[in-house]
Amino acid sequence: MEMIKAPRGTKDVLGDESRKWAHVIGVCREVAEDFGYKEAMLPIFEHTELFSRGIGDATDVVEKEMYTFTDRGGRSVTLRPEMTASVMRSYLERDMSRLPQPVKVWGYGPMFRYERPQKGRYRQFWQVDFEILGSPSPLRDIEVIDTSMEIYRRLGINNLSVLINSVGCPKCRPAYRDALRGFISGSASGLGGLCETCRERFERNPLRILDCKNPECKTLTDSSPSMIDSLCGECREHFGAVTRGLAAIGASVSVDNRLVRGLDYYTKTAYEILAGELGSQNAVCGGGRYDNLAESIGGPRVPSVGFASGIERIVITLEGQGVNIGEEPKPRVLIVNASEEALISSVSLLHELRGAGLSADMDCAGRSLKVQMKRASSAGARFVCVIGEDELASGTVGIKDMSDGEQRTVSRNDAVSALQTCLLDWGKR
Ligand code: ATP
Ligand code: MG
Repeated sequence: MEMIKAPRGTKDVLGDESRKWAHVIGVCREVAEDFGYKEAMLPIFEHTELFSRGIGDATDVVEKEMYTFTDRGGRSVTLRPEMTASVMRSYLERDMSRLPQPVKVWGYGPMFRYERPQKGRYRQFWQVDFEILGSPSPLRDIEVIDTSMEIYRRLGINNLSVLINSVGCPKCRPAYRDALRGFISGSASGLGGLCETCRERFERNPLRILDCKNPECKTLTDSSPSMIDSLCGECREHFGAVTRGLAAIGASVSVDNRLVRGLDYYTKTAYEILAGELGSQNAVCGGGRYDNLAESIGGPRVPSVGFASGIERIVITLEGQGVNIGEEPKPRVLIVNASEEALISSVSLLHELRGAGLSADMDCAGRSLKVQMKRASSAGARFVCVIGEDELASGTVGIKDMSDGEQRTVSRNDAVSALQTCLLDWGKR
């Protein structure tokens, strides 16, 4: 029978790699606590409409990338391609506007997008997500950007570029869209100079043309008008406040007039953090302000700002920069045993050791004492408990200190406390 393999674009995170993931999530949790974000655990599937209305019908994510299916009750549901829409759905549905504002939420988990898999790009990928809901203040944009930068700082990641732009609001964006369209159609090559996807984008979502990786599209839009020049007074002021605030906290950021985001809900601030280690999938983090998302999914206006960062890409960057996250913890105690009878006695000692909070393990395969000792040594055990024929007969246990090879004998009843003392003394060395 043919072996069943994992679906394309998914990844098994195992062993040493999963430790790196846990480390990343742990650092995010610490930062969340220090910055005052509360954790939210949200469903990984939602009604399809949440995303088609929230993210926008004309976006790549909604048009081409969603995992959408009809469930057994005939409803259209979608595996979440991102978390922000769910966070806002939850804010509205749980009436969080009654809480002191803003509401600061973080979470993490798998997201799903039907994309072409390559390094740093998967169909199931994980994001950590931070959101501040219910505040229009540019200070919150700064706080969100600072949150993301603090995570990478604590992770020991360097050499990131932070790019920032303003994508305006429904008041000023239409004029910019027109200006961009006018620029493209008036250029020497006109619409014909764009790739096929961008020709489609031209009518429906022209801002996305600025984000196209195709070299011809890039060249064509190189000298296109800048969004910043089209901003309305309010957006311009907001952008100025954000850049001034970032300068005040010493954040090194560059303004990139071409930066747009793949999701329609962004207003005003959009930003991205890039890492060289990622190759062409170079964005480790993307975020910005989304003042109109709540209204687009049927709520009142809830001005908000947030970011999401891909865990796979964080881990690739950690590895690429050789960041050391410390040794894997080793079992402190290994029990080696001599006979079938000793096995039972070992199991009960193992149970007691673990119950006392010690990390301990044993050999269950009835290997020779010599082989077991070798294994204990290569596993890096601090102490070995020997239960041989003699120990069994005399109701004792041998404790061998693996650092100097010294062995002493204690009564079986005192074994747990003796090992606790040994480990304490060893810890003080
Ligand atoms: P990209 O331009 O690389 O497609 P994006 O703009 O679609 O990214 P966002 O929707 O802003 O990405 O998601 C935020 C972050 O999630 C990205 O910066 C990236 O780190 C990560 N991410 C997005 N899509 C994927 C994917 N398919 N596989 C792995 N990580 C991803
Ligand atoms: Mg994308």
